[in-house]
Amino acid sequence: MNARVMLAACLHESNSFNRFSAPLSHFERQGVFRDAAVPDRFAGTRTEMGGFLAAAGQRGWRIDTPLSVPPASAGPVARAAFDTFRSILHDSARAIRPDGVLLALHGAMVAEDEDDADAVLAEAVREAVGPGVPVMLTLDPHGNVSDRLAAAVNAITAYRTHPHTDHFEAGQRAAAMLARALAAAQLPVVHLARRPLLRGFDSCRTEAGHGPMHEALALARAEEANDPAIYEVSIQSGFGLADSWHTGPTAAVSAAPRARKFQAVAERMMDFAWNNRARETFRLLSVNEAIAAARNAPPGPGPIVISDYGDAPGGGAYGDATAMLSALIASGLPGIVVAGLRDEAAAAASHAAGVGARLTLDLGGHIDPRFGGGPVRLEAEVLALSPGVYVNDGPYATGQRGTLGPSALLRAGEVRIFVNTHARNVLDPAQLRLVGLTAGACGVLAIKGMDATRAAFQPGSRAFIPFESGGIASRNPALPYRNLRRPIWPLDPIGDL
Ligand SMILES: [Zn+2]
Repeated sequence: MNARVMLAACLHESNSFNRFSAPLSHFERQGVFRDAAVPDRFAGTRTEMGGFLAAAGQRGWRIDTPLSVPPASAGPVARAAFDTFRSILHDSARAIRPDGVLLALHGAMVAEDEDDADAVLAEAVREAVGPGVPVMLTLDPHGNVSDRLAAAVNAITAYRTHPHTDHFEAGQRAAAMLARALAAAQLPVVHLARRPLLRGFDSCRTEAGHGPMHEALALARAEEANDPAIYEVSIQSGFGLADSWHTGPTAAVSAAPRARKFQAVAERMMDFAWNNRARETFRLLSVNEAIAAARNAPPGPGPIVISDYGDAPGGGAYGDATAMLSALIASGLPGIVVAGLRDEAAAAASHAAGVGARLTLDLGGHIDPRFGGGPVRLEAEVLALSPGVYVNDGPYATGQRGTLGPSALLRAGEVRIFVNTHARNVLDPAQLRLVGLTAGACGVLAIKGMDATRAAFQPGSRAFIPFESGGIASRNPALPYRNLRRPIWPLDPIGDL
C-alpha cells in the first residue's frame, strides 16, 4: 500500500515590535486554503506546497492537505488565529494517521503570548502522529530555530537562495528526505547549533554571487558529501525582528542516529558563522548618507530610487515613518515623489475635501514616532484620489491583486506625496499609476520596500539607494528587545568564544 502523507503549510514572519497583532482576517486577505482547495491553488506553483505536491505525485503517495497559509509578514499572530491554525494541524494529523508529514513553516512566527509559535505548531503535529512517524520541515532561512522546534521534527531543509526563489526545490528536498526515512530502519533527528549571534551568514544573501552565505552553502554540501548518513546540513540566518530567546542564526544537521559527530558538523558551521559575523555583501545607508548619494547620483534618464528598508511593511513595519520625507523636503532635490506613506486619517481627509482642496496635515509618524520620526506638518493640495485597488503588472508577483485602501496624491511645495490607508511595500508600477504617477517621470522616487521592490524599480533607475529610516524593520539598537538571550552580538560586547 502506498504511503499516506499529510502536506501542510503555515508561514508567517512576525515583527515583534509591531504593536498590532495579525488577526485571522489578515491571513484570509492572502487566502487560507483547506483540503481540496490546497492542490487546486498550489499544484504547479513554485512554492513549497507545489514541491510537496509534485513529489507526492511522482511517488504515488496518497495525500491529505488540511491547511495552507501563505506568508504575509506583520506583527505577532493574534491568539485566536494561532489557535485556529494549531487546532487544524493537530486535529487533522490525528484523524489522518499519516505515515509521514511534510510541513512548511517560516520559522520566525511569534504569536500573542507565544514566542516560539513554530515549535508549538510542529509539536501539535508530533503529538498527534506519535514519535514513529517522520515529520520533515521546510523553513525560510530567516527562521529562528529553537531547540523545541528541532526536537519536534526529523529533518529540516531551508531555502538556499535570497531573494528566495527555491521554495519549490525545498519542498522537493523535504519529500526526498521523507522517502528516504520511510525506507530507513531508523528515523533521523536534528542536531542544532547556535552562537551568541543576532544575525549571521550575511542574512543569507546569495544575489551577489559570492560572500559568507555562498561559502557556508559550499561547506554544508561538502559536509553532506563527507558522510552519507547526513540527510541535510541546513543553514538559517535568522530574523532579528522576532524577539524570542532563540532569535538568531542556526545550523541544523539532520542525520541518524543521534551522534556527537553530527553535532560537531553543526558546531563547525556555527564556528564559520561566528568567525565571519561582520562580513556582509550589502549595506543600508543612513538618511543623511542616502540624501548625499542622491545628490551624487550620475546624470541621465531615469529616477533616483530611494527605498526605505527600515520601515518596509514587507518586514512587518508600519509604513508611516517620516524620516525620509523630512529629509527630502529639506534637501531641495528636484522632482521628489514620496510613495507608499501610510496615513489613514490624511487619506480620509483628502477624500472628504476632494481634488483641488488645500489641507493642513500632520502627515505620517502617528503609530510610534520613536521609530522613524513623528508627524510632519505641511500645507498640501490634493492632486488626485483613488480607491487604491490594483493588479500587479510588473515583474514581481505578476497578476496578484492588492489594495492600498483609499489613497491620495498630495503636493506640498514642490514635493508630491502618495498617501495610502493600508501599509504595503511599493512593489509594482500599477500602484503608482492609481494616481497617474510613473517612475520614469520622477526625479527622486522614495518608496517603502525591501529587496522585492528592486525587481520593478531598480532597472531603469539612475541610482537605487537602500536605506534605514530607524523604523521597526531597522537594525535599530534602540528596539526594545525583552526576550533575547544575552549577551548577544552585535548588541553586547563579546570577546572571543
Ligand atoms: Zn526570508
